[in-house]
Amino acid sequence: MVGYRERVQSVQNEVVEACHRVGRDPREVHLIGVSKTVGPEALPDLATAGIVDLGENRWQHARDMLSTLAAANFTWHFIGHLQANKVKDVIGRFSWIHSVDSVALATEMSRRCIQQDKWVQLLLQVNIAGETQKFGLSPEKLIEVAQRVHELPGVTLRGLMTIAPKSSDVNEVRPVFRELADWLRRLQQSLGDPQLTELSMGMSDDFPVAVEEGATMIRIGRRLMAGTESNESR
Ligand SMILES: *Cc1c(COP(=O)(O)O)cnc(C)c1O
Repeated sequence: MVGYRERVQSVQNEVVEACHRVGRDPREVHLIGVSKTVGPEALPDLATAGIVDLGENRWQHARDMLSTLAAANFTWHFIGHLQANKVKDVIGRFSWIHSVDSVALATEMSRRCIQQDKWVQLLLQVNIAGETQKFGLSPEKLIEVAQRVHELPGVTLRGLMTIAPKSSDVNEVRPVFRELADWLRRLQQSLGDPQLTELSMGMSDDFPVAVEEGATMIRIGRRLMAGTESNESR
């Protein structure tokens, strides 16, 4: 059986290859393991395999993971849609929230951070492809929302996140990643904040393309997690 270590190595090899194709430094790309399909018992093995960042998309599952001792080995990222009434639960437990899609949600995070004397780093989720079933801001609203989130105390806006359409066609996903990178450059110009550096894009099926287009965080579930369908027939 292929273990976590081999899976991590294989993903990282592809990251290095993608970086070399476009002249990037592989150290700019952070691997976030998405642990939503495994239980807390997997945490020690994931740590041993060299995973330091883990992402969860549901508070219910995240809570079980975070209630274990082994959870302290990781930096936690919340990557799923978040309802305002769950904000109080995730603040203080997650270092990063990738899925901010409204000023109201960010304002609630800011309020809770101040109240609980915590701090969190935020990414705005953008629905680049305009898929109606997906969460995320429409690009037209992005600059205005970013300006307002940027001013909130207790939270730090660090960049953007997107989920590409499910497609095996590189020509379909590449423009989505490229556009997110363009939006980050525009934000950097309009806000002039050197902390705006992060592009969270790329999942098991499309991360090499995302890395070529500038991803600094890739969110990998199936390719890493044992007992889940791995899609290596690309
Ligand atoms: C599940 C999930 C991932 C990981 O997807 P895989 O295709 O399993 O790599 C990444 N991002 C988000 C937001 C997810 O919900």
